[in-house]
Amino acid sequence: MLKQRLDELAICGGAPAFAEKLHVGRPNIGDRARLLERINTILDSRWLSNMGPFEQELERRIADMIGVKHCIAMCNATVAMEIAIRALDLTGEVIVPSLTFIATAHALQWQQITPVFCDIAPATHNLDPACVERMITPRTTGLIGVHLWGRACDTDALAEIAARRGLRVLYDAAHAFGCTHNGQMIGRFGDAEVFSFHATKFMNAFEGGAVVTDDDELARKIRLMKNFGFTHYDQVDYIGTNGKMTEVAAAMGLTSLDSLAEFIAVNRRNYEQYRAELANVPGLTLMPYDDGEQSNYQYLVVEVDEAETVLARDLFVQILWAENVIARRYFYPGCHRMEPYRSYYPHAGLLLPETERMVERLLVLPTGTAIAPDDITRICAILRLAVSESAAVRARLQDGGVAQAQPALARQ
Ligand SMILES: *Cc1c(COP(=O)(O)O)cnc(C)c1O
Repeated sequence: MLKQRLDELAICGGAPAFAEKLHVGRPNIGDRARLLERINTILDSRWLSNMGPFEQELERRIADMIGVKHCIAMCNATVAMEIAIRALDLTGEVIVPSLTFIATAHALQWQQITPVFCDIAPATHNLDPACVERMITPRTTGLIGVHLWGRACDTDALAEIAARRGLRVLYDAAHAFGCTHNGQMIGRFGDAEVFSFHATKFMNAFEGGAVVTDDDELARKIRLMKNFGFTHYDQVDYIGTNGKMTEVAAAMGLTSLDSLAEFIAVNRRNYEQYRAELANVPGLTLMPYDDGEQSNYQYLVVEVDEAETVLARDLFVQILWAENVIARRYFYPGCHRMEPYRSYYPHAGLLLPETERMVERLLVLPTGTAIAPDDITRICAILRLAVSESAAVRARLQDGGVAQAQPALARQ
């Protein structure tokens, strides 16, 4: 049943639209029988980890799909990034966006490298190359671009700056598996790129990640580092850590890969439906994907223009949470306003005006195979109703709804 009247909204006392919570990033599960078959193979062989056959098969299939020489599978993308950063000999300062998941910054700070937060171009949500140029100091050794929402960074401009200023380029491609840029698969840009196969990503290995690169020497170093630096039995030639992917994770990764086209098709269908159903809602703009590129459509990102909606983004979050739609404010409030960076660089925001504006406007809605078309219709009806009755909704929330909903928001 679609909500059509103000008093049907849960914030106004109506029953929540959904009996169970709808989460952003609810995992996609591929062919269960195939996964269990693979798990049986693992148990039969007793090869549970340490570059087993499924890990190797996953690496080969990903390298072939991306068109790169090397894919090194890892236990997760954060460790993959830490290792890639070290293998690239990054030190001192590295330029990163603040509008990203905290792991991008932490992977640097974890090894005493200073993440220097750089502003975004509002049209792309990605690093603004002109700002990157301004953030370079004598201590800068590299930059990490994030292909946010799977939409590529301006790789040409960043490559030009990096070449001219002698910097290494790593991409956090956690969102961009299966996406193209200028017709080429993401994974082929910069010195190396890192994918995440975390449970919440559209292609998952329970937990997992991978570094892809065409650089033989870099790949060799990364392989050593992910396995404690072992070169032979009883022989360690390098400092390393444990970044290995388990066989059960690789089995899940392979099973997800088998269903990749189907996951993307569902994400795309969801995206088209949201786009159609939100088309005429003033002030809510669905972030577009470039029709000329391949995209995975895994993030359903809405930009809220409060001047038109009358309702601030956080009020939409409250309205939706009351309905059991757990919309997210990714990546609020920006890495520079999270610890330890907030304490280290209390004035970083002065150089991040577009980031600070954007984190107040973005609303990420549920998509993926766990969401049915009817769910989307009901979510969009709630949004349309809230906007059409915005003045009354705002008055209602300011009357008491806020006090209830705030603690829940603070916890997300
Ligand atoms: C998910 C994510 C990561 C971390 O990936 P893990 O595999 O969970 O370590 C890093 N960067 C971005 C942008 C992400 O979304």
